[in-house]
Amino acid sequence: MINNFKNFIKKLGIMGGTFDPIHLGHLFAADTAYHNLQLDEVLFVPSGNPPHKSGHVVVDAELRLEMVYLATKDVPYFTVSDIEVKKEGKSYTVDTLRAIKKMPKYVASQLFFITGLDAACGIATWREPEQILSMCNFVSITRAHTSLKKFNSLPKKLREKVILLKEPELEISSTDIKYRIQNHKSVRFMFPTEVFDFIVSHRLYDWKG
Ligand code: NAP
Repeated sequence: MINNFKNFIKKLGIMGGTFDPIHLGHLFAADTAYHNLQLDEVLFVPSGNPPHKSGHVVVDAELRLEMVYLATKDVPYFTVSDIEVKKEGKSYTVDTLRAIKKMPKYVASQLFFITGLDAACGIATWREPEQILSMCNFVSITRAHTSLKKFNSLPKKLREKVILLKEPELEISSTDIKYRIQNHKSVRFMFPTEVFDFIVSHRLYDWKG
């Protein structure tokens, strides 16, 4: 655990992601959940080896972790965990939730796993989806491009475990950021300055300036 916020956490938000790279959309989603659900803390958990992105992750896990740390360090209720980055093999959410539940600080916490609607719509394909939904509340920020039709077609027992938060969306995506960098378009204001500086200084995503 990198940051140390409080000793006992009643309501914990968990923001899992590949974060390749982390951007203001992720931070806004986490902050929205924090405020709307009166959470005590939001724990960011960057994926080490995401099972759903074989061959698609561009940047090394340690560098993505470092960017998450830089992006969250000034917010007292945001913390970062390296459990998935340090783990051998693929990072399955169900294993991560089990590991978090064993941590003394979170043993009695109510868990809220925060995602976008695209991720929530794919939950049925994740490892042990029913187990995941029995261990945590699944919180999803609705996004303009994702139709609620897809969500409404999920099995009822999965759908009714998802809390939908309807908030204005920041139209930023990691995929678009990578495209913009490779095509010399502006990305400077899509993440905190420290993340931008980190990408430039490490020449990530083929940064050429
Ligand atoms: P990501 O691309 O880094 O994004 C992280 C989350 O932020 C996603 O839920 C994404 O929603 C959301 N997001 C991105 N841009 C946003 C914006 N502008 N506004 C609001 N929300 C935004 O992460 P990911 O690769 O999708 O993974 C998400 C989590 O799901 C990870 O913890 C991963 O391990 C987990 N997962 C687990 C399994 C499994 O256990 N088998 C399978 C798949 C995913 P969208 O999805 O809507 O873009």
